[in-house]
Amino acid sequence: MKEIIMAYQGEMALKGLNKSTFEAALAKSLRFRVRDCGNFKVYRAQSTMYIEPMDDEADVEKAYQRVSKVFGIASLSRSAVCEKDFDTICRTAEAYLGQTLRGIKTFKVEAKRSDKTFPMQSPELCRELGAYLLSRHPHLRVKVKNPDLQVMVEIRDYGAYIHGPKLPGAGGLPVGTAGRALNMISGGIDSPVAAWRMARRGLALHHIHFASPPYTSDRARNKVIQLARIDADYTGSCVLYIVPYTKPQEYIRDHAPSVLFTVLMRRSMMRIANRIAKEIGCEALVTGESLAQVASQTLQALACTDAAQDLPVLRPLIGSDKEEIVALARKIGTFETSIQPYEDCCTIFTPPHPKTRPTLAEIQQAEAEMPELLQLEQEAAEEVERVRIRMGEEENPLADFFA
Ligand code: ATP
Ligand code: MG
Repeated sequence: MKEIIMAYQGEMALKGLNKSTFEAALAKSLRFRVRDCGNFKVYRAQSTMYIEPMDDEADVEKAYQRVSKVFGIASLSRSAVCEKDFDTICRTAEAYLGQTLRGIKTFKVEAKRSDKTFPMQSPELCRELGAYLLSRHPHLRVKVKNPDLQVMVEIRDYGAYIHGPKLPGAGGLPVGTAGRALNMISGGIDSPVAAWRMARRGLALHHIHFASPPYTSDRARNKVIQLARIDADYTGSCVLYIVPYTKPQEYIRDHAPSVLFTVLMRRSMMRIANRIAKEIGCEALVTGESLAQVASQTLQALACTDAAQDLPVLRPLIGSDKEEIVALARKIGTFETSIQPYEDCCTIFTPPHPKTRPTLAEIQQAEAEMPELLQLEQEAAEEVERVRIRMGEEENPLADFFA
């Protein structure tokens, strides 16, 4: 019996003339994501992507887990595939789902016949396949609403597909179809979630992180690498740019009014991020900011931050509560790593009473009194380190940290 993964398109199916571009991007994502799961063929027909194992070594379970994280897919199923012949369908359904049927009480069969040359119509196929399964499992009862198992049979161009209920996919649009952006990642809860949210809307991402050794440790840095790796299951492989930020940060600490420190630092980070983003072809910045979460995320502070540079700043969490963000972080799998204790460069040197309503004029005045800042920012940008983040990499740089 042959098993295949079927992935059904969501919002993408509504795209008009561009649909084929979206489908090609989705196929590319899928091929890439199952690359290390064995020999699979990925193809598309009738708004569905088929991920078909080509030999016995192919790891269908691993591929299924991968496919469940690919954006652009509304729902997915693992199906048994067989010839479009009623007797074969019955035998395949029993072989594939018999074990499950033995352990439950109620079921129903649903059929979808998109190949209209198949001689039985859907209601008849439902009825007859249901009767066959009942004959094999007399303890079962047919229940139309909320059965323990819904058996689906789909008669399509390439064969008959038999499966249980479809499971929800990751949704959204295929990564890369909406352009590329640079995500500012901190090691906190928010920024890995922000990256996930934007990737879900079709953005390809790289990450940028500011580290200030020796104030921030190797563990903090490894934690960020680990977060980017977890996100990579969704976003695909990418690069994490780590900026050595100690000198600009010390300079701001030593030369600016402390109540303005955080906003000045955030503007400085944005300028560096902007410079690197443009070098690597990113068209926007992404942050995990959420309105009024902290002093640097008031409207006035955000206005000052935005004015520091000229790329669009995407803030997908701006209207989200912390609980909503935490729930998403748990779902994505970043939460446990994010809550490990660490020192981020945003949490060092912070004044006890930052100004919550800074004006752009006073910020610019403070920057005018730091003549060497831009030079230090340029040097930091030039010394940026590139860390390749590969999807599916097993090594856990935090292994001893968590031990
Ligand atoms: P949390 O709020 O969960 O502690 P956070 O990542 O949101 O974590 P904030 O201090 O609220 O931390 O920072 C707001 C945003 O600024 C972050 O979401 C992130 O996009 C960016 N940011 C903060 N620190 C850094 C850093 N060291 N490197 C890169 N970006 C950063
Ligand atoms: Mg935050």
